[in-house]
Amino acid sequence: MSAENCLFCRIGRGEVPSKKVFEDDSVLAFHDIHPAAPVHFLIIPKSHVDSLLTSGPEHEAVLGKMVALAPRLAKEQGCDNGFRLVINNGPDGGQEVDHLHIHILGGPRPWKRL
Ligand code: 5GP
Ligand code: ZN
Repeated sequence: MSAENCLFCRIGRGEVPSKKVFEDDSVLAFHDIHPAAPVHFLIIPKSHVDSLLTSGPEHEAVLGKMVALAPRLAKEQGCDNGFRLVINNGPDGGQEVDHLHIHILGGPRPWKRL
């Protein structure tokens, strides 16, 4: 997958519209187009990484930033009572979009498990 054609790279560059939750120079958070919970958004690195399968020590900073952002953004989206992070990796991990992303899921239960 080249960064040129990658859906989430294109969202990160603003070429494909998204409902943004947060953005800075290295990460973007936006609402999932098919929410699996009352609150469901994704956090991506703007630089292309396929998944944790192909990540390395050079991604530690951005991965740490993404995880550290999650509680702040989740609370801003109303998840005061808890939330879940999910990262699907590779075909056997159920990953459908091959650009690393963290799902943040929350809101009143019950909702579908990923
Ligand atoms: P995965 O299965 O790869 O972990 O999750 C990919 C997620 O991306 C799915 O939950 C899917 O609904 C979401 N998604 C796919 N295409 C788009 C899109 O064009 N825009 C947004 N906002 N979400 C998308
Ligand atoms: Zn990409």
